Amino acid sequence: MPVRLPDVSVVVNQLKSLNIEKNSTTTSSSNKPTAAIQPKITKKQSNKNIKATKNPEPAIAKTSTASNQTNSGEATVNWKLSDFDLGKPLGKGKFGRAYLAREKKSSFVCAIKVMYKDELKENKIEKQLRREVEIQTHLRHPNIVRLYGYFHDEKRVYLILEYAAQGEMYKILQSKGQFTEPEAANYIAQMTNALAYLHKKHVIHRDIKPENLLLSADGKLKIADFGWSVHAPTSRRKTLCGTLDYLPPEMVEGKDHNNAVDLWSLGVLCFEFLVGSPPFEDLSGSAATYRRIAKVDLQIPETISKEAADLITKLLQYNPLERLSLDLVLEHPWIRKHVPDPYKA
Ligand code: AMP
Repeated sequence: MPVRLPDVSVVVNQLKSLNIEKNSTTTSSSNKPTAAIQPKITKKQSNKNIKATKNPEPAIAKTSTASNQTNSGEATVNWKLSDFDLGKPLGKGKFGRAYLAREKKSSFVCAIKVMYKDELKENKIEKQLRREVEIQTHLRHPNIVRLYGYFHDEKRVYLILEYAAQGEMYKILQSKGQFTEPEAANYIAQMTNALAYLHKKHVIHRDIKPENLLLSADGKLKIADFGWSVHAPTSRRKTLCGTLDYLPPEMVEGKDHNNAVDLWSLGVLCFEFLVGSPPFEDLSGSAATYRRIAKVDLQIPETISKEAADLITKLLQYNPLERLSLDLVLEHPWIRKHVPDPYKA
C-alpha cells in the first residue's frame, strides 16, 4: 500500500547534515566503514565480549547530534565508526541492521543501527528518517529508547541508540503466546507513561505495536521506533501508515486524526498482550480487517478478566473523544489491581 506522510512543523534544518545524497562529500577517511560493519559479521568479530552490565550516563549522551554546534551553541562530537567497537548483530529491520556496540573511550555499551543511503533514497524515506531522528533525539523517558546521536559516511547513516538487551517484545510475546494479566498490566502502565510524556510534548506515535517495542535487561518496556511519529496536530487527510491491525477507525477512513489514535492502539496492544493476536485481525485480508475496525467489531474472549475487558472496551471507542484518557488508564481498576505504583511502573 503506498504511504504518504504529512508535512509537519518540525525543525529539520539541523538534520540537513545527514545529506542523504548520492554524491555526498561529507566522508572523511577517518569515518570510512570498517570491515566489522559489513552485514556478514564473523563470529570472531561478533564476540568482542561487549557486556551491558556497567553503563553509567555516558559522555555520549551529552553529545546528541553529529553537527558541530547545536542550536543552543553547545559543542557536540562528530561521531565516526572508528569510535566504536562493533559486536553481534542484534537484528534486521526493513531498512537496516542493528549491532551491539561499545564506544571506545567511555566503554559505553549501545546499539548502532546502520542504514544504506541508497535504500533510503530508493524508498523515499529520507524525510521520514530526518523526522524520526529529530523527534527521538529530544526525548528522555525511561520507557523510550534513547537516541544518543547519529553520523554518516558516503554510503550509510548510523544511529547511536540505547541498547535494549532483551530485544523485541514481539518475539517474547510470540514465544509465550500471551502475557499474564499482571505482566500485561505492567507493560500497559509503562506504555501509558511513555505516551503521556509524548503527548505532553505534542508528539503522536501512530505506530504502537509489539514489533516496535523492545525490552531492556531489567525487563522495562522501551518504545523503539519513531518512523511514523509526528508533531501534533496533524490535519492532513488520507494518511495511512503502519500496520492495518493497529489503525483506528478515523485513520482507516482517511479522516483527520489527533493523539487519540495512540489511545486506540493502546487498547489494541492490551488485547494482543492478553490474547496473543490483535482484535480486528482477519485472515481473509486487509479489506476485512478494515471493515472490522470501522464497525469496531470487538469480541473479547471469556478468558480475559472483566476489569481488563472493561479497559480494552473503553479504549477501543469509535469516537476518539470517548476513548479513556491516559490519566484515567493509570487510575483504572485493572491497572490499580496489578501495578502498585502505575506512575513508576
Ligand atoms: P529496526 O531496524 O529498528 O527494526 O531494528 C532491527 C532489529 O534490531 C529489531 O527488531 C531489534 O531486534 C534489533 N534492535 C534494534 N534496535 C535495538 C536496540 N536499541 N537494542 C536492542 N536491539 C535492537
